[in-house]
Amino acid sequence: MCQDEEKIKIAGVYRQSIVDGPGIRFTIFAQGCTHDCPGCHNPDTHDFDGGYYCSIDRFIEEIDKNPLLDGVTFTGGDPVYQAEAFYNLSVKIKERNLNILIYTGFTYEELLELAKEKPVIGKLMGIIDYLIDGRFIMEERDLTLEFRGSKNQRFIDMNLTREQGKIVLY
Ligand code: SF4
Repeated sequence: MCQDEEKIKIAGVYRQSIVDGPGIRFTIFAQGCTHDCPGCHNPDTHDFDGGYYCSIDRFIEEIDKNPLLDGVTFTGGDPVYQAEAFYNLSVKIKERNLNILIYTGFTYEELLELAKEKPVIGKLMGIIDYLIDGRFIMEERDLTLEFRGSKNQRFIDMNLTREQGKIVLY
C-alpha cells in the first residue's frame, strides 16, 4: 500500500496534450477542488471522494514512454491540495529535464500565504516552471486567451519570477 505522498488522487490523465501549456504535454487532472467557480469546465473533479489513486511510479512509467514530451501539466481539480505528492512527482519529472506547469484556483499571493503554514507548497512553487493562477471568473472569460480561461488568471514564468524576485509573466 502506497503512502499518501507516493500516490495522487486523480480524475484522469491525457497522455499527450497541446492545449494545457506550451509544447507537447502529459496532463494530470487532480481530483478535488473547493473553489467552486461558476462555469467550471471540470465539475466532476470537485468531489474529494471521487476519482482514483495512481502511484507516482506509475505516472513516471507513462511519462517515460513518450520521448516527444516537453513537459507535464498538473491541473484539476486543484493540484495544490495534494502538494506533497505533486512535489515528490515533480522531483522525478525534473530529473528527466521536462518542464512543469500547474493550474490552480489559488492566486500566487495566496499560495505564498499558504506556504507559511504548509512549507511543501513553497517547495512545489520552487520547483515548477509555470503557474497559471486564480479562479475561473465567468465575467472575465475570454476565448482568445492562450491556455487560460479568464483574464484574471496569470501565466507566470516561475523561473524568471524566482530570479527577479517579482512576478514575471510568460
Ligand atoms: S479552480 Fe478550476 S477546477 Fe476548481 S472550480 Fe475553479 S475552474 Fe473548476
